[in-house]
Amino acid sequence: MRVAVGGYLVSANSFATQRVELEQFQRATLSGPDLLTRLGRGDGALAGFLRGARENGWEAVPLHFMFPGLFGKVRQECHQWAKETFVNTLRKAGRLDGIFIQLHGTAVADRTEDCEGDLLGALRAVVGDKTAIIASLDGHANVTPEMVRQASMLIGVKSNPHYDFGAVGYQAARVMAAMFDRSMAPVSAWAQPAMVAPLQKLYIAPGWPMDHLMRLARARAAADPRVVDVSLLGGFFVSDRLETGISVVATTNREQGLAVEIAEEIKDACWTRRHQFHADLVSVQDAVREAIATDETPVVLGDVADSGGAGTPGDGTAILAELLKQNARGAVVGNIADPAAVAEAIAAGVGSSVRLTVGGKVDRFHGASVSISGRVRTIHDGVFTAATRFNAGTYHRGPSVVVDCGGIEVILTARQTLVFEANHFRSLGIEPTARKILVCKAELQHRAGLAEIGRTFIDVDAPGLATQVLSRLPFSKIRRPVFPLDDI
Ligand SMILES: [Zn+2]
Repeated sequence: MRVAVGGYLVSANSFATQRVELEQFQRATLSGPDLLTRLGRGDGALAGFLRGARENGWEAVPLHFMFPGLFGKVRQECHQWAKETFVNTLRKAGRLDGIFIQLHGTAVADRTEDCEGDLLGALRAVVGDKTAIIASLDGHANVTPEMVRQASMLIGVKSNPHYDFGAVGYQAARVMAAMFDRSMAPVSAWAQPAMVAPLQKLYIAPGWPMDHLMRLARARAAADPRVVDVSLLGGFFVSDRLETGISVVATTNREQGLAVEIAEEIKDACWTRRHQFHADLVSVQDAVREAIATDETPVVLGDVADSGGAGTPGDGTAILAELLKQNARGAVVGNIADPAAVAEAIAAGVGSSVRLTVGGKVDRFHGASVSISGRVRTIHDGVFTAATRFNAGTYHRGPSVVVDCGGIEVILTARQTLVFEANHFRSLGIEPTARKILVCKAELQHRAGLAEIGRTFIDVDAPGLATQVLSRLPFSKIRRPVFPLDDI
C-alpha cells in the first residue's frame, strides 16, 4: 500500500494585525524526504501515523508540512499557494491508497473562511472517492461540515493542553488499515451546540467542564464496538468562521444513525453545561493587589488576552504597568516581545543600567508602551526546551534579555511565544519557585505547566485581541445567535 502524508498546521486570529507573508509561509514548509526524517520521530501526529505505516509495511509518500506560526488572518495568496502546492505534488505522486494529513483546523484566509475544508476538497478532487483520507485535528479545531464531507474521517486530540497527537496519528493508521482490508467503512456525523467557549475554559483537568464532557465522549466511544471514535473539539474563538466553537464528530463503522445519535447526545451535554463556560477573570488592579497580598505563592498571573498561543503580538503591558504602579516585589514578567528594546539592552550590555520603553508597539489593543528602568542582568539566545509532555520541544524566542527593575524582573524577547513552564524562566537564570509573582502569556497552558510550582492562579482581564470576554471582539462570520454573545 502507498500512503501520502502531510500537514497544514495553519491557524489565524481573525482580529490580529500581524500577518504572515508568502515567503515566510514557504520557509515554514517541509517537503520531500526531509519531511519524513524530521517528523517521523518524536510524538507528533505524523510520527504516530508513520509508526502505524511501518508496522503495516506501507510505503510513505511525503507531501508537505506547513507550519507558519499563528498570527492574523492568512493571506489569500498563502492559502492559494498551499493548496496548489499540495495538489501539484499529489498529482505527481502516482497511485495512492490513502492520505493522512495533520490539520490545526483554524485557518481563515481573506476570501476562504474554511481553509481546511477547501484543502481537503482539493485533495479529494485529485484522488477521487475511493481513496482513504484521514485528517487529525488539533483540539482547538473549528470543524465544518465541509471538512467532514471531504475526509473519510476526522480524529481530534483528546487532551488540552494537547499531548496525544502521536496516539491520534497511530489511531488514524489503524483505521486506515481496517479500511484497506474492508473490515471498516467509517461514517461520521458532525454536531455543534450554539455556543463558543473562551480558550481559558477548555482546560481538560479534574473539575473543569471540558473534562466532564470529554469523559462522556470517551465513555460513549468505549461502550459500543461499532463506534470508531468520538472527538469533542473545543474550538478557537479568535478564528472567526461560521462554525467557530465547540463541535462533536462521531464516527462509526457503517452506522450513520448511530453516529448522528452520539454526536447529538454530546452536543446536548455541552449545551446543558454552557453556563460553566463563562470566562473567569479578575481585573488587572485587583489581580495585582491579590497577588501582592497573598502568602500562597508563587502566584501565577495569566495574561490570557495576549496568549502566545492565540495570534496576539505578545507585547501586552497592562500587568507590567500595574505591577510597577503597586510597587510589587519578587515579580517576573515573562515575556514581552519587543525586538527594539531587546536590541537596546544588548547594545548596553550585561550590568548596564538602562531606561527602556517596552511593549504596546504593534497595535493599539494591548496597552500602552511602558517605561522601565533597571539593570541588564542576562543576555541569552532565547532557545530553551520545554520539559512538559504537552507543547514539548525547543522554543526559539529570539535574542532575549532580563532587565532587573528592583522588585520586578522583565523578560524581553525578540519573538512572541507561549509562556507556560519552568524552563522558560530557568533558562534565563530565574528560579520560578523563588519568586512571588509569575506573569505568563498563555490561555491555559500555564495552569498545567506550572501546576507543581504555582500555588495561586489568577487569570487577568487585561486588554488584548485574545480577550476571554468574547463580546468585546468584532465577530462578523460566526453563526448567530450563539452563546455567550447572545443571551440564549
Ligand atoms: Zn490547540
